Amino acid sequence: MENIFYKKLCEINGLAQVHTQEPMKRHTTFRVGGNAGYFVTPLTPEALWQTIETCREAEEPYYILGNGSNVLVSDQGYSGVIIQLFKNQDKITFEGRRLTAQTGALLIRTAHEAAKLSLSGLEFASGIPGTVGGALAMNAGAYGGEIRDVVEKARVLTPEGEIRWLSREELDLTYRSSVISRKSYIALEAVFLLKEGESTQIEARMEELKRTRTEKQPLEYASAGSTFKRPEGYFAGKLIMEAGLRGYRVGGAQVSEKHCGFVINRGDATARDVMAVIMHVRGEVKRQAGVDLELEVKLLGF
Ligand SMILES: Cc1cc2nc3c(=O)[nH]c(=O)nc-3n(C[C@H](O)[C@H](O)[C@H](O)COP(=O)(O)OP(=O)(O)OC[C@H]3O[C@@H](n4cnc5c(N)ncnc54)[C@H](O)[C@@H]3O)c2cc1C
Repeated sequence: MENIFYKKLCEINGLAQVHTQEPMKRHTTFRVGGNAGYFVTPLTPEALWQTIETCREAEEPYYILGNGSNVLVSDQGYSGVIIQLFKNQDKITFEGRRLTAQTGALLIRTAHEAAKLSLSGLEFASGIPGTVGGALAMNAGAYGGEIRDVVEKARVLTPEGEIRWLSREELDLTYRSSVISRKSYIALEAVFLLKEGESTQIEARMEELKRTRTEKQPLEYASAGSTFKRPEGYFAGKLIMEAGLRGYRVGGAQVSEKHCGFVINRGDATARDVMAVIMHVRGEVKRQAGVDLELEVKLLGF
């Protein structure tokens, strides 16, 4: 059965796009996690849909991955099919103030392409290391901007196999969430409506944000960015620092000394180490400050 399933995935996607027992530490910015049973990178939306149908028929679970910059995969890995929408589907085109990006395009590149054409609005996203798809699913945001401010519409594949355009309102982008993640839609492309600006000013703002990030965030270590969501009325990093957990470490995982909102991989962390840090932090913050910290990072295979 397994062999037939693998053959079918190869028929749909081509041999080069299908891998078995693929280490997920290669595909996540945390650089931890065991193997994916299958790792598929479809070249077209049709191949994507056929891959999903094949998974359903074979009752194999599947998971959509972008750049893996907000995901923690367990040491046991994920026995199903990881479907990655990244470098194969990353075209960016412009028409006036409208930028259309396939969801595999990196946000950083998208922001820089817009700046080259003197289009403003994506400066906030110029340091977020995810894809447009991940950013739509998460309503990624930083430094006072978020995807909700700039997206006009997005084309999605529904769980029923229908391809639809959703308006900004229908996308229902809320803090680190959207209808895409809530209804298991798959984002295929997005249109951003930007403002006319001055390219040198846009680039200067992106440089400024980059300096701030480098100064404040532990970018020298592997991580998935902010581990926890911002609790209403608080900052996760401050609560963690006040709980005396700056630098708290289990194995190779640690609460960053530079920014307590980040759990970092010092180089040899396992997912188990990361989870142990997360659980301890949540427990202590709850005990000391009475606040429940909710994970921003998505867990896979736990
Ligand atoms: C150093 C660092 C700094 C960061 N800074 C920020 C920041 O400032 N602001 C911020 O918001 N985030 C930040 N992040 C987190 C992360 O980059 C964002 O959440 C990003 O939007 C995730 O995109 P991704 O492509 O990596 O998604 P992944 O991590 O691959 O996936 C995240 C979620 O999106 C879903 N998804 C991915 N692609 C699609 C798709 N095409 N269709 C449907 N669902 C999809 C996945 O199933 C998963 O649930 C940071 C991460 C790091 C490592």
